[in-house]
Amino acid sequence: MITDINPLQKTHLTRIVATLGPASFNELGIEQLIHAGVDVFRINFSHGDHKQHSETIRRVRAVCRRLNKHISILQDLGGPKLRINELDEDHIHLYPGESICLRDGVEKGDKTCIGFTDEDWFDQVKPGERVVLGDGIIHLQIERKGKSELECKVLSGGVLRARAGLNFPESDLNLGAMRPKDWEDLKFGLENNVDVVALSFVQGPEDLIKVREVMKDYEFDPILIAKIERPEAVERIDDILEHSGGIMVARGDLGISVPLQKVPTIQKFLIKKAREQRKLVITATQMLESMTTSPMPTRAEVTDVANAVFDGTDAVMLSGETAIGVDPPLVVRRMSDILIEAEANAIFPTLPKTDRSMDSAISQVVPMLVKEIESKLVVSPLTSGSTAVRISRQRIGVPILAGVSTERDARRIRIYHAVNPVVVDKEASFMDNLRYIMQLATELKLVQEGDYTVVTGGLPLDRPGVTNFLRVVKVGDEI
Ligand code: PEP
Repeated sequence: MITDINPLQKTHLTRIVATLGPASFNELGIEQLIHAGVDVFRINFSHGDHKQHSETIRRVRAVCRRLNKHISILQDLGGPKLRINELDEDHIHLYPGESICLRDGVEKGDKTCIGFTDEDWFDQVKPGERVVLGDGIIHLQIERKGKSELECKVLSGGVLRARAGLNFPESDLNLGAMRPKDWEDLKFGLENNVDVVALSFVQGPEDLIKVREVMKDYEFDPILIAKIERPEAVERIDDILEHSGGIMVARGDLGISVPLQKVPTIQKFLIKKAREQRKLVITATQMLESMTTSPMPTRAEVTDVANAVFDGTDAVMLSGETAIGVDPPLVVRRMSDILIEAEANAIFPTLPKTDRSMDSAISQVVPMLVKEIESKLVVSPLTSGSTAVRISRQRIGVPILAGVSTERDARRIRIYHAVNPVVVDKEASFMDNLRYIMQLATELKLVQEGDYTVVTGGLPLDRPGVTNFLRVVKVGDEI
């Protein structure tokens, strides 16, 4: 019996994306994270090499097979993230008023001069502009520009670590989302059947179109996510959504490239836009940051996660918390508890109908029906994914058990809000699959005798993409 539902616990509907890293990427770590409630594993291609990533992918797939779970893998491409070079110490302190230079080719920097090697941007920065180092705490101002160095004054100081991020929020840098390394990484991801690909520092739809071109050569096309972390991307969000499977509100780099106080408003704006265009949206970064070192989140973090649910996000993402934190499974359990509580109290606005199609009309009435008959579950007995995703967009407040015929389809829809894939027999009849899923749901105590369940999908089965019927089944009655 293949399922992802734990009968004894309420299950969260907002999907949890957890980044794998040294604190979690061994088999035991992966297994514990799955038990704790992870729906999607993120592999951050800014770190590690292909040998390490293929080993991580192998482990995830092996553990999933052993546990009969369908967990997606999200490949996060590093993109044009600029970084400083190594330092001759683990870290250095920079204080306001100090002078420091940034010089091309310096391999190990110190308090007077730090190095960089990726010089594409060099021609595009000017004296007077700001340089932001690390996660946004250290700010420098460029005072003079030489042939291959920038003399800077420290405006706000802090602790600087080797390979810290290097940002020029006031400069007009025109760096495409894909560097040569990203094309290599993308090819690797496609050959290893990743389920979701996220592109960093997307500027506009052209970045996504180029990637789609490459994806065409592969049989299975992963969901393409645009990470929104630049002001240009916020401005062009409609076009970006049109050319992507969804977006990530990448609050880390976004909070460097726009004034920090604008991040909450942009988050709400982006989630609303994504939902209106029926696209996937992931809210990311520093959600439970303090749990990287502590067993308890702060009140503000708990509120932040709940607010992302109220905003209507499909998924929430953990980064350092699960990659390098002290107790990754505990972070996921706490995240799950917050989600369950928030979901029980969330009120999602009904999405406006976009067209007069039957598919759209049926998914539109499902939330009303679920509420009216107090259905605990929606079932789609055999779907290519489209019915389940359509219903998911309505944020119906109960799990959707979606029958799919392949493991790959199961992994592909797992990232959508409330969708719990079940692999069913493609050769069996629609009714047999419905009976099978209903029996499963009863055994798992998702429903009990007398409960109503909403059933929806498309018939005949050989027309994927169609949603054309809606039925109510009373648990225990003959189907
Ligand atoms: C972010 O900036 O919020 C983000 C998710 O990207 P990364 O962690 O790759 O910097």
